[in-house]
Amino acid sequence: GRRAALPQGPPDVSALLRFSSPRTAPRAPCCDKLYTCRLCHDNNEDHQLDRFKVKEVQCINCEKIQRAQQTCEECSTLFGEYYCSVCHLFDKDKKQYHCENCGICRIGPKEDYFHCLKCNLCLAVNLQGKHKCIENVSRQDCPICLEDIHTSRIVARVLPCGHLLHKTCYEDMLKEGYRCPLCMHSALDMSRHWRQLDDEVAQTPMPSEYQNMTVDILCNDCNGRSTVQFHILGMKCNICESYNTTQAGRYKISLDQQ
Ligand SMILES: [Zn+2]
Ligand SMILES: [Zn+2]
Ligand SMILES: [Zn+2]
Ligand SMILES: [Zn+2]
Ligand SMILES: [Zn+2]
Ligand SMILES: [Zn+2]
Ligand SMILES: [Zn+2]
Ligand SMILES: [Zn+2]
Repeated sequence: GRRAALPQGPPDVSALLRFSSPRTAPRAPCCDKLYTCRLCHDNNEDHQLDRFKVKEVQCINCEKIQRAQQTCEECSTLFGEYYCSVCHLFDKDKKQYHCENCGICRIGPKEDYFHCLKCNLCLAVNLQGKHKCIENVSRQDCPICLEDIHTSRIVARVLPCGHLLHKTCYEDMLKEGYRCPLCMHSALDMSRHWRQLDDEVAQTPMPSEYQNMTVDILCNDCNGRSTVQFHILGMKCNICESYNTTQAGRYKISLDQQ
């Protein structure tokens, strides 16, 4: 059945890798060996199979080797209810679709996704017009594990700043902190936490020698600059009220107290 909630990022592409009940074995263009599964090839060999270069397949039923196609030309075995002639993917119909802009097959249904040309990736339709576009973001490697995201078997998470992480790496990141490792924007809605911090700040007056000390800060969330009173627990952006800020200048002691 269908999941109730759409995944945030581009869908898992794991079906591209393992033919669930293979009826055909594509011939690896690199080493001329027959493999029913790209992953098995990649695990057994010291190189990766380039799916786009597959030209021939062998029928598991009659063993006839022939050009890559959906149905065996000898015994009429249907190699896959789904067949992509670009990716040479043979599989059950799992509502896959080939996205021409992504250049690969993704798990659909197609109508649940759109391809954002600027981010250069397929996203859930509920993000259309509601995400921060970053030029070619899908071609950047994951900032946590430094591995590819675009063709990854792991679902990607889109952060509010528009950057992408593998879902698993995102979960690791949350154990360490709340900020995008690339741009330091808050990766979660922190507003409740900030309002708690407001209370703590209010209950923790700084010693009198610090009362007139101000500092310039740069906000990692809105990129605004403000000058605020120095506080050991955190310094709140005057513009968006986030505490995700960094000190951007020296401390200043104001002398205008009466
Ligand atoms: Zn090979
Ligand atoms: Zn056959
Ligand atoms: Zn395809
Ligand atoms: Zn796409
Ligand atoms: Zn976009
Ligand atoms: Zn990662
Ligand atoms: Zn970011
Ligand atoms: Zn701010």
